[in-house]
Amino acid sequence: MVTNRLTFEDLEKPVASLPLIGPATAKRLEKINIFTIADLLLHPPHRYHDFSHIVTIATAKVGDTVTIQGEITKSLMLPTRSRVTLQKFTFTDTTGSIDITYFNQPYLLSTLRRGTEVSLAGVIESHRGKVGLVSPEYEIIKPNQPLLHTGRLIPQYPETKGVSSKWLRSRLAPLLSLLPSIDPLPETLRQKHELIPWKEALSSLHYPQNESQALKARARLAFDELIFLHLKSLLLKKRWQRRPATTALPLTDTEVSLFVKSLPFTLTSAQHRVIEEIRHDLSRVIPMNRLLEGDVGSGKTVIAAFSLFAALRHQKLGVIMAPTQILAHQHAQTLKEILKPFGARIASVTSGSKLKVYPERSRRANILVGTHALLHRQLLLQRAAVTIVDEQHRFGVAQRAALKNLKSTPHQLTMTATPIPRTVALTLYGNLDLSFLDESPPGKRLPKTWVVPRFKRPNAYHWIEDRVLKHHDQVFIVCPLIESSTKESMLQIKAATAEFQNLKKIFPQLSLDLLHGRLKAKEKTAIIHRFSRGLTHILVTTPVVEVGLDIPAASIMLIEAAERFGLASLHQLRGRIGRRNQDSFCLLFPSDSAPPTTHRLKLLETETSGMKLAEADLKLRGPGELYGTSQSGFFSLKIAALSNTPLIKLTKTAAEKLLHHSPSLTKYPLLKQKLNVLLDQAVVPN
Ligand code: ADP
Ligand code: MG
Repeated sequence: MVTNRLTFEDLEKPVASLPLIGPATAKRLEKINIFTIADLLLHPPHRYHDFSHIVTIATAKVGDTVTIQGEITKSLMLPTRSRVTLQKFTFTDTTGSIDITYFNQPYLLSTLRRGTEVSLAGVIESHRGKVGLVSPEYEIIKPNQPLLHTGRLIPQYPETKGVSSKWLRSRLAPLLSLLPSIDPLPETLRQKHELIPWKEALSSLHYPQNESQALKARARLAFDELIFLHLKSLLLKKRWQRRPATTALPLTDTEVSLFVKSLPFTLTSAQHRVIEEIRHDLSRVIPMNRLLEGDVGSGKTVIAAFSLFAALRHQKLGVIMAPTQILAHQHAQTLKEILKPFGARIASVTSGSKLKVYPERSRRANILVGTHALLHRQLLLQRAAVTIVDEQHRFGVAQRAALKNLKSTPHQLTMTATPIPRTVALTLYGNLDLSFLDESPPGKRLPKTWVVPRFKRPNAYHWIEDRVLKHHDQVFIVCPLIESSTKESMLQIKAATAEFQNLKKIFPQLSLDLLHGRLKAKEKTAIIHRFSRGLTHILVTTPVVEVGLDIPAASIMLIEAAERFGLASLHQLRGRIGRRNQDSFCLLFPSDSAPPTTHRLKLLETETSGMKLAEADLKLRGPGELYGTSQSGFFSLKIAALSNTPLIKLTKTAAEKLLHHSPSLTKYPLLKQKLNVLLDQAVVPN
């Protein structure tokens, strides 16, 4: 139990190590991203109620927001004609009495008994000529204890079921008094950037004297958040480079051109550049740790194939992991085509695969393709010289940690189609080397995209039917996103099923299928198979189904409730159609409840670069929208804004300077102490 003065180490302990927070509460807190004591301390209020105006009843004016202090002199419960109950109190101070009313809170009768000294805060109202407070914030006055809910600027927090702002305040206040007075940032740095002391910043984040103090608190804590992120990645990078030497996999020019010439197409210059970057990484004994970012269709698979080719040339094992069985299967097919001439023996490892029965098959293989099921095959992974993770954000933190814990370190390549703005990537993945495939293969065309207003929907449906019947187009219809989550909830599936029934009525002449994540793998495969063979005209899917799914036949995509997605996500979605470079079309349907402005969505009609769209997202909607909230594990910034590029750059320079001045930070013992705790806990991507 943490009850004494807190240390930096304590801050990283689970919240449940605090008194009065049990496992059930800890579970609830997870919903608002509070896992550790530090998370609780850094849970920022979204606003403050100004209850600092303490008045007497005689001076209180109707309409004022005030705090009054006095005694309960009368209490009673009144039933009403509806099921509502009223709790009525008379409240008296030295200057007079007023009425206090609450609804449906019978327990208050035993809390606010006659004679109780209380502090009340709220807006003075007048009802039928009587002055009073309705449902005011209340707290019982205790000698020598500061007021937490009234009498000053009172923080209001993002809440969740069972965790109210009042509850948060009652847990935070004692915690704030346990903070140590030491400051992790060196004095000189604080002075240079005009930052207030750490302890003061945390106190003022929750209980500021005034608004300007609240801003100073945020400025300080945002600075900390980013500089520690930078320091962490810079040190992790150093650490990585000291890891036990892995096998170098150098390739000669001849070998590289052997690979390049064997391909059925000419590489783009971006692909050439990335291949050279990877070739350079692989030629060294320091394990590669590279993140490859490229739009859907930018040709990442051939880069993966190249990395596996290097392993093949050295008779080593290469492993590639995809987020779903379907994708793993597609990779296996593609890699077979590209790498067969070089002696590839490919085995698939998915949860349903037969390798458990025929383990020797995987032992003979020199390339393993699979899903996260591979993570449980530590013995196999142990032999890998190269591991590739495709669409990384779909993998959980724990899964990445499993990869990280291998005894010998393979060369690692992580591939993502999630367009992350460069500045953000450099911050979040500062410990990784970054490659960008920022050029699409020639001839690759994006679907022509339209935002379809409500009144044009019937036309759009007619047009689709026409295209299907006359041009044999095949259609994806993406159902509305109900909750931002990568996991499909039952609610989501129900909504999709309802929409599916509805669409069957709209398109009585066409054949439709519904694909969602809860279907059995066999059913999914069958549905996709039917669609790829042209037996189904329209495939209705939930929004989160199968990231990166490649169905070359599809040429039309209709996205419902498009405004609920980030631009980058929409861009990723539309990238799945027109893969044969046939004419393709993406129709964005804003939902009925969408605000009338379609300006944001209209960007998709003209902008073709995923990264530019991500930048626009960041500016227009904030970082949370880049991935959807459930992936916020990647965006664990609580105070600083990822769109604050100047601060990101400033703190990066500051971090580099500190490390330059004192490479292992011995000159900054407190900073080092805090950082060590963070590094111990660090589970960063790869
Ligand atoms: P990603 O995984 O980045 O979404 P893929 O690797 O699946 O993209 O490539 C998309 C399509 O483009 C594939 O059919 C692939 O064969 C093709 N492709 C990749 N690179 C080139 C290129 N340089 N020229 C022509 N086609 C290419
Ligand atoms: Mg891909």
